[in-house]
Amino acid sequence: MPEVTEDKISLDYHISRERCRACGVCQAACPVKAISMSSGKASIDPELCDSCGKCISKCRFGAVERDPVILEEIDSTNRWLKDAVLKGAPDGMVVIARKQSSGRGRFDRSFSSPEGGLYYSQLKRNFPGGEDMVKITQLVAVAVRRAIIESSGIAPDIKWINDLYVRGRKICGILCESVSIGSENHIIVGIGVNVNTALEDYPQELRDKIGSLAMIKGEKLDTDAVAGALTRQLDKLLVRPRKLENEYSAEYRKYCYNFPEDNIIKQEE
Ligand code: SF4
Ligand code: SF4
Repeated sequence: MPEVTEDKISLDYHISRERCRACGVCQAACPVKAISMSSGKASIDPELCDSCGKCISKCRFGAVERDPVILEEIDSTNRWLKDAVLKGAPDGMVVIARKQSSGRGRFDRSFSSPEGGLYYSQLKRNFPGGEDMVKITQLVAVAVRRAIIESSGIAPDIKWINDLYVRGRKICGILCESVSIGSENHIIVGIGVNVNTALEDYPQELRDKIGSLAMIKGEKLDTDAVAGALTRQLDKLLVRPRKLENEYSAEYRKYCYNFPEDNIIKQEE
């Protein structure tokens, strides 16, 4: 588990032997020489690693992994991570809550977050173009859709701009936010996925439009597997957003059933 104290946040990093292609790029990027190569794979010495996160940004194969912070209940994972940024939270930090008491969506609308769902936020430090939340949200929606397909086999539709639906029921919401500190511009990507929730977990007024992966599959899913797929897909996108922008934008338009031609966020949606 990551160490979280009042004035310090450090993550445990490791390298997936399955995904590592032994290119050596992370080793060259590590400022404290914590990465070595053995048996043709990279590995991290936890005694030396100071959680700077540079190796995540450099690895093109998504092989660098780190343990998420797991909270049983929190008001909002985005809010928690915003506070953590001010304490120096490292690049790529992930926080997961089993339940949120004040989950939020766009325009500060509440996002119902009962137990059984996955409430996930990831920090990307110094994100290029971090002020264009419309574009970032669209790219993230594609990464999240891919993660849901990878972990559940269910292929959602995208509803402009930040929701995923299956058979007319909302199964996921996304909230991307920027955090500026001095000249640095960071982003926090928050995702709520209704994984194993049931209709009775939600307020009456939502029950004719909400759904979950378990409702669709007819069986419970592994929430950690969904979280792992989200981290892999977000790492892939957030490390190389410019390279992937055209591909992901085309995919967004393909699966967004109500894409507005003026591409403008409307308050009344
Ligand atoms: S950059 Fe990635 S693929 Fe290359 S050695 Fe490091 S972990 Fe392995
Ligand atoms: S997180 Fe930083 S210090 Fe740790 S292994 Fe990666 S590059 Fe090195």
